[in-house]
Amino acid sequence: GNTIVKFLKEGKIENIHYEKMYDLATRDALTQALNRKAILDLIAEEFQRSSSRDLPLTILLLDIDHFKNINDTYGHPAGDYVLKETCALIMNKMIRSQDALGRYGGEEFALLLRETKLQVAVDVAERIRIAVEKQNYTFEEKQIQVHISIGVATLDSTSKSSDDLIATADRALYDAKNQGRNRVCVR
Ligand code: GH3
Ligand code: MG
Ligand code: MG
Repeated sequence: GNTIVKFLKEGKIENIHYEKMYDLATRDALTQALNRKAILDLIAEEFQRSSSRDLPLTILLLDIDHFKNINDTYGHPAGDYVLKETCALIMNKMIRSQDALGRYGGEEFALLLRETKLQVAVDVAERIRIAVEKQNYTFEEKQIQVHISIGVATLDSTSKSSDDLIATADRALYDAKNQGRNRVCVR
């Protein structure tokens, strides 16, 4: 197909260059989460792998609550800081190395939890929600309270594609928003 494989010896300076290029192409510059295309590709790939091997797979859609208010009250740079901090918190403290966080939209993120059953994923989601609530966000000496809503969806017999799975998580996220925000909902 269109795949080119290049062999690089460990420790070679060239590797650093390739790693940087790869990060530039796949990561969001502000948050260092995967960009939209990278996370969607990964979810699609993992959907195939998990359904063919009958492995569990759960995804989370996370959306910061009333983020527009944060921008309006504290300014756009403060909003950027909140996005950056929230991603750092999740990527560095809340997930395993085999999981992946991507920036799905402005203040919306997708989290892929490999080989993870629904109940475990719901626990992860709840821990993230609480961690965000408790995180001390301080920007230019002002404290900012941040809340997050999370929709959870797991691979089952009704999921025909990774788009289906994402759509289900999106409906769960919509439920979380409707039920008052700062909560985790499952579909
Ligand atoms: P809800 O609780 O329903 O999610 O409300 P919300 O205010 O979070 O959602 P809404 O979609 O109304 O607003 C999202 C805002 O996010 C609007 C947009 O200007 C802002 N935004 C998107 N990307 C960025 C960014 O990279 N930096 C900053 N600072 N703001 C951003
Ligand atoms: Mg929002
Ligand atoms: Mg949103």
